[in-house]
Amino acid sequence: MDPDEALARALQEEEDRTAAAAILAADRDIGGKHARQAAFGARLESGVKTALAFEDPLAQASALSVVPVDRLEAEAAALVTESEAAASDAASDGDGGVKPKPLSREDAMLLRTLRWFKLEFFTWCDKPKCKTCSNADVRHEGMAEPTPDEHAHGAGRVETYRCPLCSAVTRFPRYNDAVKLLETRTGRCGEWANAFTLICRSLGYDARWCMDWTDHVWTEVWSVSQRRWLHCDSCENVCDKPLLYEVGWGKKLSYVIGFGADDVVDVTRRYVADYARCLRERRGECDEAWLAQTTRGLTDRLRAGRSNPDELDELRRRDAGEADELHRAGTDVPPPDVPFDDLPGRTTGSLAWRAARGELGKGKQAAESTDGGGVSTDDDITREARESTRKKVAPVDDSLVIAAANKYSTSTTPEQRETMGRLLRNLVKEPGNPKYRRVKMSNAKIAYAVGGDTFGKQLLVALGFTARDEPEHGLVFSLGDAEADISAVVPSLETAMKRLKEEDATVAENGDSEDVKAEKAALERMIRAEFDKIMETENLTPNEAAMKALNTVRERVSRR
Ligand SMILES: [Zn+2]
Repeated sequence: MDPDEALARALQEEEDRTAAAAILAADRDIGGKHARQAAFGARLESGVKTALAFEDPLAQASALSVVPVDRLEAEAAALVTESEAAASDAASDGDGGVKPKPLSREDAMLLRTLRWFKLEFFTWCDKPKCKTCSNADVRHEGMAEPTPDEHAHGAGRVETYRCPLCSAVTRFPRYNDAVKLLETRTGRCGEWANAFTLICRSLGYDARWCMDWTDHVWTEVWSVSQRRWLHCDSCENVCDKPLLYEVGWGKKLSYVIGFGADDVVDVTRRYVADYARCLRERRGECDEAWLAQTTRGLTDRLRAGRSNPDELDELRRRDAGEADELHRAGTDVPPPDVPFDDLPGRTTGSLAWRAARGELGKGKQAAESTDGGGVSTDDDITREARESTRKKVAPVDDSLVIAAANKYSTSTTPEQRETMGRLLRNLVKEPGNPKYRRVKMSNAKIAYAVGGDTFGKQLLVALGFTARDEPEHGLVFSLGDAEADISAVVPSLETAMKRLKEEDATVAENGDSEDVKAEKAALERMIRAEFDKIMETENLTPNEAAMKALNTVRERVSRR
């Protein structure tokens, strides 16, 4: 078995272990079914706890401080204009069909936030790089006890990896604390969904953290203009494609529960193509009536703190609308090929990791089975890709280059940018010179420009470089091999160079990053002060006070 695949399987088993152990233990119990239901109930309670953590005003303030709100608002405004033009074009075509509605500002902002989160903010992590030598090919060793600090940030599990080159052990704590994740900005779907849901709440969206009982996690966001919950998968930059998992990835979902500040809802029907079949074949962990009653009870408990009758009325109207929508969903079984075939397979995570989870999407899996090689054809795909890069290096995704160059430019010193700029310039001037296509970390100046800071590595990787440890040179980034033709990448190299230069011009103009930091700290202090004042003077629950404080400060700041 491919080591990556073995790793992916081991990790998956580890993730399932806790839940499986609870269920197995429950089965041995005399009151088997009752105990299974109790285990289910415990998962529901822990989901509520996760959702309530997103309501902490300080957590929201921290999240708001990392979002480039002004830029995303401007991008969202452009998107609204575009959608208005498209809607009026379609209307003037006058084919009498359904008139497409332009995007609302809030929905457009959600789409742009989702894109920013995926392309610029968060990174996927199958396994960490070696903390000592940055080697990417570390081996999974096992699990470790969390340190008190890791534990304080909600890391109940810590994976450990040993480096075959320097034998250092690198820890990968699986943090649950969304605020900590704003700092680490990496992980698997659990980390992505935690951080993204908190960011949605900080921007004022009503959001739910959705747990899928088979293993995935995502977010749902309330659309004020469409009056419905929108499925948002931050790992995939996908909005409103709830059949992505079943039809796109070939998953078989059993239970999907949404956890919000005001409700706990069984939203499985939204995500399955054939609910009757799901009910018949996959849902036996608890009594259906018990589940309905329990989620209702949790919802009532969450709403008990709300005293405003208008808000409660609005929540009840949402309940009724959603119940109606869910009842209609999951009953239209789509034909097996069309019309959902264009749904993407999973894009995040290595090929091996996705293959091990059976999530490459229908087309890819079908191709594999006709090859008769099962997962092993992954190697063929990788080999093919490797061979084609030897001849001609494929063009790279410019949006990733821009994102990485942005990150690099804003988090480096002028000296670092100078060196990096020179590396890029050499490549653009002499793309045929193999010397310039190898970037060696054994050179101290280059290591400073690239290695002292992970964003430099991300930039090189975005530009198509691959990293390898060489016995005589240490870590080396190369763009193709000695014979490679890199002309397709040159425009992207120029784009990155230009962005680095722009940063130097901006810093020369104002250089106010300290001011920005101070402003963010001031914002946090304002929210905390407002919260304390409300708690003292008004008869509100901490949750209500938190929301009120956040809104008050948000308004005050936006009026400035
Ligand atoms: Zn190492």
